[in-house]
Amino acid sequence: MTKITYTSSSLDEESGARYEEALSTVERELLGKGYPMKIGGRDVLALEYEVRSPINMDIVVGRFQRGGRDEAVAALNSAVRAFDDWGRRDWRERAAIMRRVAEAVERRKFLIAAVMAYEVGKNRVEAVAEVNEALEAIRYYASLVEKEEGYVRRMAPGSPGEETWSVARPRGPWFVISPFNFPAMLGSGMVQGALITGNTVVWKPSEEASLTAHLMYEAYVEGGVPPGAINLLTGPGELYEDVIVGDRRVAGIAFTGSKDVGHHLYREFAARQPYPKPVVLETGSKNPTVVTAKADLAKAVEGVARAAFGYGGQKCSATSRLYVQEEVKDEFVEALAGYTRSLTVGDPRKDGVFMGPLINARAYTNFARNVQEGIAAGGRLVTGGRQLRDGWMSKGFYVEPTIMDGVPEGHYLFRDELFMPLLVVAPFRDLDDAIAKVNDTDYGLTAGIFSEDESEVREFMERVEFGVLYANRKGGATTGAWPGAQTFVGWKASGATGRGIGGPYYLFNFLQEQARTYVR
Ligand code: GLU
Repeated sequence: MTKITYTSSSLDEESGARYEEALSTVERELLGKGYPMKIGGRDVLALEYEVRSPINMDIVVGRFQRGGRDEAVAALNSAVRAFDDWGRRDWRERAAIMRRVAEAVERRKFLIAAVMAYEVGKNRVEAVAEVNEALEAIRYYASLVEKEEGYVRRMAPGSPGEETWSVARPRGPWFVISPFNFPAMLGSGMVQGALITGNTVVWKPSEEASLTAHLMYEAYVEGGVPPGAINLLTGPGELYEDVIVGDRRVAGIAFTGSKDVGHHLYREFAARQPYPKPVVLETGSKNPTVVTAKADLAKAVEGVARAAFGYGGQKCSATSRLYVQEEVKDEFVEALAGYTRSLTVGDPRKDGVFMGPLINARAYTNFARNVQEGIAAGGRLVTGGRQLRDGWMSKGFYVEPTIMDGVPEGHYLFRDELFMPLLVVAPFRDLDDAIAKVNDTDYGLTAGIFSEDESEVREFMERVEFGVLYANRKGGATTGAWPGAQTFVGWKASGATGRGIGGPYYLFNFLQEQARTYVR
């Protein structure tokens, strides 16, 4: 499948029409309804809560369920039972089922994309691209399993007369905990990884993205994953934490989200389980882009703006720190500010809108606070900085894409993942200086450089301690990793296993090797 690039905020004519149609279907058939949790294929109700849309708080997305210990245990029981069957199926059968899941997702593509506008405020191009990415990941994993022949390998005999094999086996039931920002791709990517390798799953998507998860769940079941091999819990993760980290039947945890929560789960799981078990983490970042004096500045302007402000800076891959070489800094920052002012902020359902709202009231308030803190610390607003409250916009969480210069580099705006369209800029002297600044963080997910000088690019690639590196990427300086092309792998505080989503080694996160010897 070819990748849609993020260089426009419009779809082609046919896709645009299908998206519009899907928006009406969502409005007519999905919005405002009650959605049960799914345990062993059964609908399970608990304490109901309402989710409203960040694009306009008058819109009720749906009513979802908050469970507790009982539901978590029931879901885990179901995943344990289903593992007996699913874990033993032939890898060919599981790969074929996952390909049918991809077809089922494809059938819902525009519906899922339209739901994402309401649920998480994603614009049409990014939403459709995300669903494409989710299906590409499924197909990529299926092709990996096929290429590796189910990770079954004949080995050399240890002694004469021995027949020896290396066989990769699934581990059991996993909890998968996924974030709001890529509700189709990321949740599903972890779920896919676990399922295709024969594990079973209890999936707890972000409270803010449960409707997308429902549509994805339907696709899994329609594609032939046995209900029970996938179970869906909703509500805040804390409700289930005791079972997630403490029940000894849990084989592993796959988590994408904030560093604090991810690292907390990692430690608790290690402390409460009888022996060490895998935790697959992708835990955000503070991603830098470097623009040197040898950059093509026009290319860099577009690449940085798209990476910093695409989906409102709410991607784990977003550029949030910008380092520009002293001699071109003023010129570059001015050009970037001009480009940024031309980006359209508005209702993400509308054609041509680049940036929708922030996800919730907390992010909206934090945005204003962060801008004030930056100014109080001596920073200067280059562009943006305001919450947008005119007319209907006051009903959602719209803010301006914002650039700040002069904030001290030790300040938290340079260090903490903020998940908002707030870019801080600093100068650097030479490449050594830039690389030192880039690496001066515990995080290590994505990093970008703009330079037409190959030796500068080479140096950057060799010395930067991040998992996903890009040079001269106009469509997004640090964003837009694609399954099978760019492995989405976090280093240091951004990941734990060194085997990233969408990459050739990802599936091994969910497997354990078994050596088999037969004496003939
Ligand atoms: N594939 C997306 C990107 O690279 C994932 C971003 C994210 O995980 O937030 O931009």
